Amino acid sequence: MTVDESSGSIRRTGGQNATDRPALPAGLVDLATTTGEEGSMSVEEPYTGDELAEVPSCGEAAVELAVERARDAQEAWAERPADERAAVLERFHDRLLDRQDELLDVVQLETGKARRHAYDEVMSVATTARHYAVRAPGYLESERRRGAFPLLTRADVHHEPKGVVGLIAPWNYPFELVVSDAVPALLAGNAVVCKPAEQTTHVALYAKRLLREAGLPAGVFQVVPGEGSEVGPPLIERVDHVGFTGSTAVGREVAAQAGGHLTSCSLELGGKNPAVVRADADLDRTVRGLVRGCFDNAGQTCIAIERIYVHESIYEEFVRRFAAAARDRRPAATYDFGSELGSLVSAEQLEQVESHVEDARADGATIRAGGRARPDVGPYFYEPTVLTDVEEEMDVCCEETFGPVVSVHPVADDEEAVARANDSEYGLNASVWTEDEERGRELARRIEAGTVNVNESYIAAYASVDAPMGGMKDSGIGRRHGEEGFFKYTESKTVATQRVDAFSEPPIPFGAFTRVMAGVLKVWRRIPGLR
Ligand code: NAD
Repeated sequence: MTVDESSGSIRRTGGQNATDRPALPAGLVDLATTTGEEGSMSVEEPYTGDELAEVPSCGEAAVELAVERARDAQEAWAERPADERAAVLERFHDRLLDRQDELLDVVQLETGKARRHAYDEVMSVATTARHYAVRAPGYLESERRRGAFPLLTRADVHHEPKGVVGLIAPWNYPFELVVSDAVPALLAGNAVVCKPAEQTTHVALYAKRLLREAGLPAGVFQVVPGEGSEVGPPLIERVDHVGFTGSTAVGREVAAQAGGHLTSCSLELGGKNPAVVRADADLDRTVRGLVRGCFDNAGQTCIAIERIYVHESIYEEFVRRFAAAARDRRPAATYDFGSELGSLVSAEQLEQVESHVEDARADGATIRAGGRARPDVGPYFYEPTVLTDVEEEMDVCCEETFGPVVSVHPVADDEEAVARANDSEYGLNASVWTEDEERGRELARRIEAGTVNVNESYIAAYASVDAPMGGMKDSGIGRRHGEEGFFKYTESKTVATQRVDAFSEPPIPFGAFTRVMAGVLKVWRRIPGLR
C-alpha cells in the first residue's frame, strides 16, 4: 500500500490487501440456522470487490427450523425473572466492549465502511443495551389501572412477550440494526429470528456469538441467512411480530404480507432528510455538523442529510465553506481509524449514486465538490459530492440517494425553508441550524419528521435512546428506542376483577335508570380524582 501525496488517500497497489485485510473470525458460519441442504451465496469485500466468503442461502425449511427452535426456547426464557434476562444483556454489553476490535474488523470487511463509522455501531449498541437492561424490569412490572367503578372494579395490566420476533435488517448498520432492535425484544421475553442483509451475514452471526457468550440460552436468538425474497415471506408468515428495517419499497411488501397474517409489524424505512440553515447559524459549527451528517458512513445512513435549505443572505458563503470541507474528506481503504470516508457497499449502490449525480448534471445542476467515483481507492468509492442549481423534481432531490451526495438550495425565509423541507414523501429525520434555540425548536415542531435535531444532523436524537425514533409518512410505521421501542414487543393483558355485581339488571325500571345515570355521569365528570 502507498500514500498518494496529491490526494492524501491510501492507494492500493496490487489489490488491498492480502496483507492488511484482517481475517474473518473462524467458525461464524456454523452459528447460522440451516438444514444442511441449502445452497450458498457469496459475500464480497467492498474494499476490493473480492469474494470474502461463502455463506448459506436459506429457504423455507431453514426458516421453519429456526422458528421452531426459537419457539421451543422462548417459553423458558420468558419464565426467567426480568432481572436475570437483564443480567445477560449487561454481560453482553461488557463483552461487546472487550471484543470491539474484532467486531470492527467484521463490520468493515463486509460493509467497506471507515473504521470510525463502524465504531458508531459499538457505541450505539452498548448504549441501547445498557439503557434497556436497566429499564426493562421496571417496564415489565404489572400495573394497577383505574377500574370501571371506583373500589368496585380492580384492573391489573400485565405485559407479556409476543413470542417469536422476526427481524429483517439492512446492511448499512448491520450490527446496530440487528442488535439494538433485538435487545428490547429479548428483554421483554421474546425469542428472535434474524434475517440479515445478504451482504452482512457474518456481522449478525458475530452478534449471535457475543449473545451466547454472555449467557443467552441456545435457541433464543437465531440467524437465517439468505435472499430477502426467499427468507422474508416464510419468516413473516411464522412469527408473532415483524421488525423490518430497509427500503420503503420492500417495507410496503413486508407490511402487506404481515397484514395478510394479521401480524403486527414495525417498519423503519428510507428518508430524504432536510436541513434548514437560518441566517443566524454559526457557520463553522454548521458546516462541521453537516459534513458529518451528510458524509459519515459514506452517506449510507437512513437519517443522513440529503437536502440543505440555506437562508439566501449566507447561501454563497455557506456553499463555499461546505464544499471545501467536503473536498477535505479524503477516501481511503484502510482497516485502521485513519480513513474519514469509506467505500459504498456494492456495485449496485455505486450505480444508484452515479445515476442520481449524472442525471442532475445533465439537467443543469452544478457540481461544487466531488461528483466522481474513485476506482483508484477501491471499486465502489465515491467522493463527497455537493450539488447546487438542483430542481425539486430531479431524482437527487426527491428520491433517496443513500450515498455521499447532497443538494444545497437558497431560501428567502423560514416559511419557505419549512415548506420545502416538508415537500417530500418521506418524514424520517431533519435538522435545523440557528443560534436562536427557541426559534429552532419552534421550526422543528413544524417539520414533518419523526426526529428533528436542532444544531445537530442526527446524532443528538438518535443517541437519545430514551426518546422514540422512527418515520412519518413513507418513512415507516412504529418507533424504536424509548418505551415505544420496548412495548411494541409486548402484548398488554388486562385482568379486571369485579367485587360487587354492578352490571346486572338495575333495581329500578330501565327508563328511570337512564335518567338517573345521566345525572350521575354529569356529576362524575366534575369530581377530581374520579374523572
Ligand atoms: P432493502 O429493503 O433492499 O433490504 C432490507 C432487508 O430486506 C434485507 O435483509 C433484504 O434481504 C430484505 N428483503 C428484500 N426483499 C425482501 C422481501 N421481499 N421480503 C422480506 N425481506 C426482503 O434495503 P437495504 O438496501 O438493505 O438498506 C437500505 C435501505 O434501508 C435504505 O432505504 C435506508 O434508508 C433504509 N434504512 C432505514 C433505517 C431506519 O431506521 N429508518 C435504517 C437503516 C436503513
